[in-house]
Amino acid sequence: MNITIRSNITAFLDTDNIAGSDAKICQAARVSTLGSAAAESGEARGLLNYLMKNRHGSPFEHGQMSFLVEAPIFVAREFMRHRAGWSYNETSGRYRELEPVFYVPPEHRPLVQEGKAGEYQFTAGTEQQHEVVRWSHAGAYQWAWGAYQEMLEAGVAREIARNVLPVGTFTSFYATCNPRSLMHFLSLRTKYTHAKFPSFPQEEIEDVALAMEGAFSKAFPLTWEVWDRNGRIAP
Ligand SMILES: Cc1cc2nc3c(=O)[nH]c(=O)nc-3n(C[C@H](O)[C@H](O)[C@H](O)COP(=O)(O)OP(=O)(O)OC[C@H]3O[C@@H](n4cnc5c(N)ncnc54)[C@H](O)[C@@H]3O)c2cc1C
Repeated sequence: MNITIRSNITAFLDTDNIAGSDAKICQAARVSTLGSAAAESGEARGLLNYLMKNRHGSPFEHGQMSFLVEAPIFVAREFMRHRAGWSYNETSGRYRELEPVFYVPPEHRPLVQEGKAGEYQFTAGTEQQHEVVRWSHAGAYQWAWGAYQEMLEAGVAREIARNVLPVGTFTSFYATCNPRSLMHFLSLRTKYTHAKFPSFPQEEIEDVALAMEGAFSKAFPLTWEVWDRNGRIAP
């Protein structure tokens, strides 16, 4: 039974589906005092900083970024808890046969959790713990994929057969957001000590968030800069 083990989780910016800029956010803010003259360009960094510090959030909704995420189902579940300002479309397990691609944590992924809920510290784990992680994942995935295939071969519908596939199965989805909803997501799904409200996300969703933050910082550099400098709180 051939299955693929995958340890990298990815989020790619869809460069055909990006709209807006720092200047467009400023333009949306300036209409408040300038009316239609807001289209003329002006100083951006100071205005964005003012909006961010004073939590004037709505101008940051004038923009769009779309990402193709390839991640295990457990990451997709965490991701789709983010509702406001997000649109999603995901691979169907009813309309197509799923791929035998399964997540195993990479070697550098800390394995042992210590401390209290919400503020866990993670340590590397022993070689024996890494070994049991590897063979337990591979064994369970092999078995689950075999059971899935057996049901499909027996003529059982895909929507029933998929019941046996675990949350480590890879899925793919498009996630489209605006700069404001992305900043809220990043504030919760990345871990930085200079954040005003530090969060403690699971490493796998943080991988996705960091890839998205890299794209965001390039597409909206001044917005990203003032957001990060002001404690990474979504306005
Ligand atoms: C470290 C961490 C651990 C977590 N652990 C758990 C867990 O154990 N169990 C669990 O169930 N979830 C857990 N979550 C998910 C969490 O509870 C949120 O669902 C998720 O972070 C999305 O946040 P949000 O609702 O603010 O985002 P969004 O859904 O994008 O909403 C953005 C903002 O819009 C407003 N809003 C959206 N919907 C409503 C509404 N219906 N009513 C009023 N205001 C609204 C709120 O101001 C909200 O902050 C965890 C999240 C993190 C980051």
